[in-house]
Amino acid sequence: MQDNFGRNIHYLRISVTDRCNLACSYCVPNEKFKLLPRSEILSFDEIALVVKSGVRAGINKVRVTGGEPFARKGVVDLLAQLLGIPGIQKLGITTNGILLGKHLNRLRELKLDNINISLDTLIPAKFEQITRKNAWQSTWDAITKAVSMGFKNIKINIVAMKGINNDEFSDFARLTLKYPIQVRFIEFMPYGCWHDRNDLFISGRDIIAGIVKLGQVKELEKTSLDGPAKLFALHGSLGNIGIITAVSEHFCSSCNRLRLSADGKLRPCLYSDSSVDLKPVLRAKFLKEDEIFNLFAKAITLKPARHGCSRNFAMSTIGG
Ligand code: SAM
Repeated sequence: MQDNFGRNIHYLRISVTDRCNLACSYCVPNEKFKLLPRSEILSFDEIALVVKSGVRAGINKVRVTGGEPFARKGVVDLLAQLLGIPGIQKLGITTNGILLGKHLNRLRELKLDNINISLDTLIPAKFEQITRKNAWQSTWDAITKAVSMGFKNIKINIVAMKGINNDEFSDFARLTLKYPIQVRFIEFMPYGCWHDRNDLFISGRDIIAGIVKLGQVKELEKTSLDGPAKLFALHGSLGNIGIITAVSEHFCSSCNRLRLSADGKLRPCLYSDSSVDLKPVLRAKFLKEDEIFNLFAKAITLKPARHGCSRNFAMSTIGG
């Protein structure tokens, strides 16, 4: 379905839980934040119903995220359920990778190839400082296992932070010489606890300028399936490098997404406080699928031309 600005909205990101097994300093919400009562979190059947109605409204691409999606029991069953919905052409998951390893066989069976794994450092002790958990090895093992099992579309998400991991950008880029993966640098977005940490920000332009020093880097042509990342490759690499400039060069004019929060709110834009609550309709005595479809249409019409400036959100609830 098209929004008021002619954009085709076809991508839904779903936060299946606001719980996470890490507590990354840049991601944890501010003190006012409380975890949702479990009864407020949508069931898998409710999520599947939302996606079915979303398909009627034009959704064909879905990403499951959180919180940490694998922290929710049975999430692979949900993935199987979503893959069975006619009209869903692309399904992916975003995870911190800690619990991923043990689910890889099942994901292989489901032919789910689109796995984004967040990893901000290659140094285990630094991982513990950033995430407050000593778990780097589990994530790294899951990445290398997924590569060796032949998963086709593995991306490592790195939040780029000056003074924290900018000394490792070249090491991350070099991984693409050895592994057929995409390493994606995401500009740090100041919000939540770290809403005032503008000092950490490093622009996509500066990130790539540092990587160019490694040798020949070429910018790649993008296809419509590539999403907002600018793509680059080192000479002779098996993988490539993505740069997501959500802050320095926003891509609102090509934004195609809606977000579904863990408690059933459809959010038209990450940086805006408006949302459409699906839960009352989902939990009404007599559920009307047409009403969910209408609420999708409403959320699409609420999409702003470009993002606002709300910084008071919890990525874990909305779905990063
Ligand atoms: N737990 C999963 C994970 O770690 O990938 C999914 C949820 S996490 C909120 C999704 C993505 O949001 C991660 O790649 C994370 O690094 C990114 N993210 C969280 N806070 C961010 C911030 N302040 N700036 C940029 N990206 C952020």
